[in-house]
Amino acid sequence: MKALRFYAPEDVRLEDVPEPECGPDEIKLRVRNCSTCGTDVKIFHNGHQNLTPPRTIGHEIAGEVVEVGADVNATYGSDWQVGDRAQVIAAVPCGECYECRKGWMAVCQNQTSVGYQYDGGFAEYMIVPRQVLKVDGLNRIPDNVGYDEASAAEPFACAINAQELLGIEPGDTVVVFGAGPIGCMHIRIARGVHECGPVYLVDVNADRLKMSADAVQPDETIDASEVDVVERVMELTGGRGADVVITATAANVTQEQAIAMAARNGRISFFGGLPKTNPTITCDSNVVHYRQLHIHGANGSAPEHNKRALEYISSGQVPVKDLITRHIPLDDVLSAFDIVKNGEAIKVTVEP
Ligand SMILES: [Zn+2]
Ligand SMILES: [Zn+2]
Repeated sequence: MKALRFYAPEDVRLEDVPEPECGPDEIKLRVRNCSTCGTDVKIFHNGHQNLTPPRTIGHEIAGEVVEVGADVNATYGSDWQVGDRAQVIAAVPCGECYECRKGWMAVCQNQTSVGYQYDGGFAEYMIVPRQVLKVDGLNRIPDNVGYDEASAAEPFACAINAQELLGIEPGDTVVVFGAGPIGCMHIRIARGVHECGPVYLVDVNADRLKMSADAVQPDETIDASEVDVVERVMELTGGRGADVVITATAANVTQEQAIAMAARNGRISFFGGLPKTNPTITCDSNVVHYRQLHIHGANGSAPEHNKRALEYISSGQVPVKDLITRHIPLDDVLSAFDIVKNGEAIKVTVEP
């Protein structure tokens, strides 16, 4: 079968490999959709400390069950059958550490990831590892949800995890930095689930801003390469600032701007990680202190967030279909990375 294998930074090959074999406590999937995200592009160019090469990458996965190991259903108390449609979690918690037992699976200290320690979804077939099945990380796709939509449940789950911490209330003003797919999902969740008030979408790339704004219709877009974004948000909020700010970018300055534009009792999510080589920002601590700001991190998602994402897609509360703007065969997977890198599509999905 064909698979996209990572060997080293800038050395990623689409090659023929043997079809993987399914162990007694594993499930084999025919991958139908594996979507791409900024992390794939980062891995392509820089690798990742947790990724052991050679490795089939791709972590936003939906597929059809083609083989169920003999012990699977007895071991995990599940009822998987050949022909079932399933979505796979990407961040895999251990289920046993202090954090997991507390129910904080997104910050499991032994977290592993599909596409890093286990072969991922840019391939015709993949094995769902026992570590995923053990934490109930293989999710049934509702009948009215397509494989392409289901593959978006993973990034969507990360956004649900972040927003859960923000306590968004009806009517809250929300600013989202980053007009990528995840920024779009943040807007849809804030509105569809939390019934927020006005939403302002910020980016420095005018084309990407327009493309995403056409899809999710923020109340206003702000091109931060043209205007002072803090000043503009203050204007739009009558000088009060934003109740909620989400930085879905890797740009340090957006975190500083988020603090500067937050309203009293404002809640901030540092959703996007910063470059490893430059992870610091300047923070006026007195602003945080006197304005009583709440600054949250966000690290991936827990299995439960993936299930909820599929429910929100199925119920229509948070549509994702229209955010998947490109479908690409596995043979052209490398071009998908360029499209993501150049921001030419909202979400690109690969169909092996
Ligand atoms: Zn991703
Ligand atoms: Zn754990």
